[in-house]
This record gives sequence, structure tokens and C-alpha cells, in this order.
Amino acid sequence: MSSLPARLTALALLALLTPACSGPQPARSAAQPPPTPFVIDGHNDLLIHFTTDSQRAYLGPDGYDIGQRTTGQVDLPRLRAGQVGAAIFTVGVLDTVDRIRGVQAVTHLFREIAARHPEALAVVEDSASLVQVAGQGRVAALFGVEGAEELGGSREVLRAAHAAGVRSVGLTWMHTNALGDASTDSARWQGLSPAGEAFVRELNRLGMLVDLSHASDSTAMDALAISRAPVILSHSSARALCPAPRNVPDALLQAVALNGGVVMVNFVPYFTSPTHYTWYEEGEARWAEFQAAHPTGDSARVLMAAWEKAHPEPPVTLAEVADHVEHVRRVAGIDHVGIGSDFDGMYSKIPGLEDASRFPALLAELARRGWSDEELAKVARGNFLRVLGAVERAAEGGRGGNRPQ
Ligand SMILES: [Zn+2]
Repeated sequence: MSSLPARLTALALLALLTPACSGPQPARSAAQPPPTPFVIDGHNDLLIHFTTDSQRAYLGPDGYDIGQRTTGQVDLPRLRAGQVGAAIFTVGVLDTVDRIRGVQAVTHLFREIAARHPEALAVVEDSASLVQVAGQGRVAALFGVEGAEELGGSREVLRAAHAAGVRSVGLTWMHTNALGDASTDSARWQGLSPAGEAFVRELNRLGMLVDLSHASDSTAMDALAISRAPVILSHSSARALCPAPRNVPDALLQAVALNGGVVMVNFVPYFTSPTHYTWYEEGEARWAEFQAAHPTGDSARVLMAAWEKAHPEPPVTLAEVADHVEHVRRVAGIDHVGIGSDFDGMYSKIPGLEDASRFPALLAELARRGWSDEELAKVARGNFLRVLGAVERAAEGGRGGNRPQ
């Protein structure tokens, strides 16, 4: 697999982002490799490896060496091989007593990690810096908080998070919170709460991305009605192809398109394949039953191992991920689809998309299906960059541009 040329200039990157002409693309011969892509990944859980076993505290910046091949799915050699120019890295706020201190601690930790590898990694806070860093052949890290409950749902903590460099916030994670309902929990607000509405306005004012990946359909629709700027769904696939509630129904895909946002397709097996999703849900139900019946000892684990032996994990393919990308494109349009892997946040993997080195394989599959260089550039990076730029322009003190682009 060809890897990214070591040093792309920012101008060369801009040329890649902005096709010189929008006329018909020349046909690419089968022998020609796909264009040098520059991928922006919407969701990366690398920091999970920097937590202690209890996941209640962080190790130091040397707690996990990303400079060489790791036991996880993400490290600097594989990000480089994967032609990753930027990613939203989840910064989990573990201090639940003093959340401002918590967000400052985790962002400081990540900056210390980046400082260990200045030739390969840099924290960025805006689209111009992102393009510059990616153009130098380095990975630009944007900070994202996955659920606003980690900020206590507080606009004061949100402002502190912004000051610490966080640029993307999910309104909810797995559980319904004070701001709105989550897709994987029961509804308390039937959408966004009044506090959630104020929170979305504050995200807009600060120039931060509103991430609706874990929000319920109603919460997402309410947020779209309020947001002055385009939104992202940083790691979600199409519900028409796989019925997981975390996935996006067609009506929401169309609403995101009207808003000018981007839906970034995920690589998690049970969000990709309906067969895998059913298997996973059944496994979860059996595990809950076994644990309830055998709260102590090893019996629940033994029963679960027997169930898994009798019900092996169904295979899921890279082609099915490409199907989700093409579905989002078909329903929302070519300007509203991106990629959000969830690497280091999944328990099983899709063969061919095992780790951060594998993005080119997905782009090659799309190229094989007839996607042009210009279309590949949009899904790989261009659509997300357009959204980030529009969010920055819509911020208070920005140059205006609150109309979705
Ligand atoms: Zn998630």
C-alpha cells in the first residue's frame, strides 16, 4: 500500500482539497492507484489506553508508547500508513468532582503526549492549523468530548473546555442526560431539554462542533432546528442498513444535509451488519441473564463462553462499510458523508479495517466502485473541513456565515 509522501506542502494539500475544475473526471485505469488521500477521522479513542485499569484515572504521557506499534488499533506508524491527516481524539473527563480541573488535566495530558512526538503529532484548535499540520505530513489532533455530561452539562465548564482547546462536544453519550435523550437510553425530554437548547447555542457562539452521534433521533432533530451552524455525527452509520439505534435514519440523514452537516460512517461491526447487531444484542441479553442467575463465582463467564462457542461471531466485511458510505451519499448527498472509525473504542474488528493503517483500503474500495478523485477527497476530508470552517465563521466575533453551507 502506498503511504503518504513524507512532506506535503499546505499548498499541495489545498490543491487536493479544491479541485481545479468541476467538469467530468477522466476515467482512471485499473492499474492506477487511488489518489493520495488525506483522511480526517471523526472519532478516535486512543486515550483509553492511557487510563488506569479502573478507568478512573489517567496514566502519565509515557504510560503507553504510541511511537511504535501498540497492542491497540492506533499508533503513530499506523496513523501515518493510514494517511491520517487529522482526527477528533476523545478526551474523557475523569474528574467528576471538579470538571474544569478534569478537562484541563486530560487536555494537558494529550498535549504532553504530542510534545513527545513533535515530528508526527500536533494539537490544533482551528481548521487553518489543521490544514497546515496535515500538509506537513503530521497528524493534527482536535479534542472532542463525547458526552456533555462529562462537562456536567454546564456552560461554564464548556467555556473552560473551549479555553483548553476542546472543539467538538457530543450532546449525550450512551445515557440520557440533563441536556437531552440518548439513542441508547429511555427518553426523559422527548428530545432536547431547555438546558440542551441553551447549550447548543453556546456551542455555536464559541465556534465548537455540535456532535449528534449518540443523541436520540428527537434530540438530533431538535438540535438541528436550533443550531446556527452545520453539525457532525462523528461516528454513526446508516440505520436503513443496520437497525442499531446509534445509526442514523434516512429522515435524519436528509435533515443533516439541509443543515449542511456531515455524517461520518463508523467501522464498528455491530453498527455495520444487521446479522452482527442481532448476534451482539442476543449476547448482551444472555450475559445479563447469566450474571443475574450467578452473581458470584465463574459460572456466568463459563455459561457465556459456551454460548459464544455455540453462536460464533458473524463475519462482517469492508464492503459492508462501503455500502453504508454509499447509502449516506445516496440519501444525504456527496457533500454530507465522511469517515469516523471509532478505533480503540471497539471490541471486535472488521477484517481489512482492523486499525488506523487501513483507511486507504476503504477509499480503494470506493474508487473500485467508481468514485472519482474529487468524491474521494470529499468523503476523506473535504466535507468535514467545510463544516469546521462554517462552524468557525458562525461563531460570535467570526465573519458571519451562519447560513449552513
Ligand atoms: Zn461513541
